[in-house]
Amino acid sequence: MKVVSIATVLFLTLVPGLSLADNAVMEELGIKAAKEAMQQLDVEKGDANVLILTDAGHAMVDGQTTQAAIKGLTEESGNSIGDGNLFQVLRAFWKPLWFYFFNKATGEAVYMEVDPQSLNASLDDFKALPAKTVFSTISRANVDIDYLKNHTDEGNVTFNQAVFNGNEFSLAGISNVWARGGSFDFIQATCFHDHLCPGVTSGLFLAKYVEDKLPINSSSESYKVISCPNWCKEDLLQMRWDATPGKSGMFVMALTDTEKKAIPGIAGIFIRWNSTTNEGDALALSYNSSAAKTNWTGPSWGSKLASDVVLMDYVDTPEAFVSTIKEFKVDQATLSQLQNAGMHPLKVAGVL
Ligand SMILES: [Zn+2]
Repeated sequence: MKVVSIATVLFLTLVPGLSLADNAVMEELGIKAAKEAMQQLDVEKGDANVLILTDAGHAMVDGQTTQAAIKGLTEESGNSIGDGNLFQVLRAFWKPLWFYFFNKATGEAVYMEVDPQSLNASLDDFKALPAKTVFSTISRANVDIDYLKNHTDEGNVTFNQAVFNGNEFSLAGISNVWARGGSFDFIQATCFHDHLCPGVTSGLFLAKYVEDKLPINSSSESYKVISCPNWCKEDLLQMRWDATPGKSGMFVMALTDTEKKAIPGIAGIFIRWNSTTNEGDALALSYNSSAAKTNWTGPSWGSKLASDVVLMDYVDTPEAFVSTIKEFKVDQATLSQLQNAGMHPLKVAGVL
């Protein structure tokens, strides 16, 4: 037994980047995060007002994956993916590992960022570590947009001083919409996008508009997106329709400013494709982002958050924002042209 552990230690010493941290420590980390946050927010296990966001499962620490922390979070807090009150927010694997707890009853939120050094301890030693050693950042702020409307000085500190280490908008946006009944699928898509912004909401409105005009009727049908120009909307469409570039569900192209001005609000070409008949129905759509107004008059950090909330009132009326520029049939040859790098899809579609 001793020989094995010495060999393991030698191995880990010789291989740079490998950490002694294991899944038991990672799970304990999730427990510690939940304990600290629940104490700070003064909530009990199973409180339905609490939302947990984390990049655990995406972030890696010294080459180790971090999903076991989610197990610890759920054990201690009762929150889970199944209950729709725990979400994994996409971040690149080299980004810091963090946990975020939000209480919708008060608007208060706690953000904790992990000090990777602390994870090198043995499980017993790690259990004994205080939160202030395990986390290099533990910060608190009220992120509710209605509260912030009347407390802009607090918001100035939160957003201008980046108290959540740059994650303020990402976490506050998701929290505000979750608190107001944002659906699971929408919150999940925004977590894939990194944040909840009016741009990703426009993806939902475009999707609903297309689903109404060109509903999916058979297993041979799917949606293909000629995204031109691209913006935040594409990330929602990938999640909602499984329209990923890797499976030829989406082709993404930018436009020049002049081209954008030529077709105001142009959002792209949306095709319902039938893979049996090799035919499709296409819509060239535009999106009017100024169709809804917020009454936000405060500092700039609040305007997108206020829009996020206002836009939720329009989830069932996407036609207030989306309109059809052109409707046309697509055969295999046209589809190939629309997807081809040497072609201009809007010219192929005859809208530019
Ligand atoms: Zn966005």
